[in-house]
Amino acid sequence: MEGLHNTSTDTLQQLDAMHHLHPFTDTKALNQKGARIIERAEGVYLWDTEGNRFLDGMAGLWCVNAGYGRREILDAVYQQMQQLPYYNTFFQTSHPPVIELAARVAELTPEHLNRVFFCSSGSEANDTVVRMVRHYWSAVGKPEKKVIISRENAYHGSTMAGASLGGMKPMHKQGGLPIADIEHIMQPHWFALGYDSSPEAFGVRAANALEEKIIELGAGNVAAFIAEPVQGAGGVIVPPSTYWPLIQEICTRHDVLLVADEVICGFGRTGKWFGSDQFEITADLMAIAKGLSSGYLPIGAVVVGDRIVEGLEQGGDFNHGYTYSGHPACAAAAIANIELMQRERIVEIAGERIAPYFQSRLQELAEHPFVGQIRGVGLLGAMQLVPEKPGNQQFGTDGSIGSFCRDRCMENGLIMRAVDDAMILSPPLTISEAQIDELFASARIGIDLAHQHWLETQ
Ligand SMILES: *Cc1c(COP(=O)(O)O)cnc(C)c1O
Repeated sequence: MEGLHNTSTDTLQQLDAMHHLHPFTDTKALNQKGARIIERAEGVYLWDTEGNRFLDGMAGLWCVNAGYGRREILDAVYQQMQQLPYYNTFFQTSHPPVIELAARVAELTPEHLNRVFFCSSGSEANDTVVRMVRHYWSAVGKPEKKVIISRENAYHGSTMAGASLGGMKPMHKQGGLPIADIEHIMQPHWFALGYDSSPEAFGVRAANALEEKIIELGAGNVAAFIAEPVQGAGGVIVPPSTYWPLIQEICTRHDVLLVADEVICGFGRTGKWFGSDQFEITADLMAIAKGLSSGYLPIGAVVVGDRIVEGLEQGGDFNHGYTYSGHPACAAAAIANIELMQRERIVEIAGERIAPYFQSRLQELAEHPFVGQIRGVGLLGAMQLVPEKPGNQQFGTDGSIGSFCRDRCMENGLIMRAVDDAMILSPPLTISEAQIDELFASARIGIDLAHQHWLETQ
């Protein structure tokens, strides 16, 4: 087949419908209207084959932290591909890019996290977490510590273990999940679950749910607690200030490992290098992916605490790994990404100047009659649409209001995601103040139109 660069949108859509199955998609419904074909990107903008330009309010899928069109990353990958396009790290071998990346990640992450196990995605990182924490406990003579506690509405990926750790009911329904020895507790979602109390009191209640679960299961059976510092795909749920300190205390008290899923929060998203820095979490293990390479090539990792490494060293072979663990070209992309983020001080500038501006513009929408709650930290934001104010009433319409709003934003040049009826933002960290103004002007139009539509259909 010829390259498809000059093919018409119609033909591309037809071929896409005939041969391509999309993730998290109702295939039949999509193919009736045809996928939008994204062709090109630069900075914070995307262009489709019809010539429409979009401000990418989601940084791809929460990952293009450094923005599109970064020559440095392309050059680094090209050079690496010429030098050594592939070699494995199974055969008692290593290679310069994986060594350099491991050292750089160890330097960036909190002090006690010094070893890095590589894989190709966030899901694989969390699969690795499951294998690794169980192997750890067995290596230190406590093989009965197996259960991993996670949270409802969490997202930890879509492999069997990732989806099992995650708390998404529609995912569990397909394929007989969760797998054994995974338990879920309530999420720290004040607006939905704690509206009748103060956020601080609710944060304590949500954290205590962990202790109650540990006691119910018996601490001797619990290996770890895994959580995103801020729940991303669940709707940008920023926990109350009381939540993380108490979670930390409970894990320590019961000798339960704390795993931070930093796949979204890592690499500047919350305004610091890691969510663990922003929320002062001391995690035993950290899953990373997405922003690690700004999405330019697929790569993920588990960053492992010294205590865990010491335990693993008593356990002999760790019978786990991937063909592409530490892939040289992906490692080169991640190194170049980290280098440019440091050189341009992207995380520091985002934290000091861009995120505060983004959050202040976001907060203005709290006044909107259709917006019941604003959630956000760093360059993460959510606008919860509600049928009436005040109150925490929800629509109960399966997210159709959110999708309506999302589609209107798209027509107005903004890619914003809908999680049920919350509108979600996670733009590249390199977004400028003027681009943030543009983003919120389009977001407001989308929300106004959704509000009008809701009033008309009542
Ligand atoms: C995206 C995501 C994952 C899964 O990453 P993939 O690269 O899609 O496998 C895991 N955890 C969190 C918090 C995520 O947002």
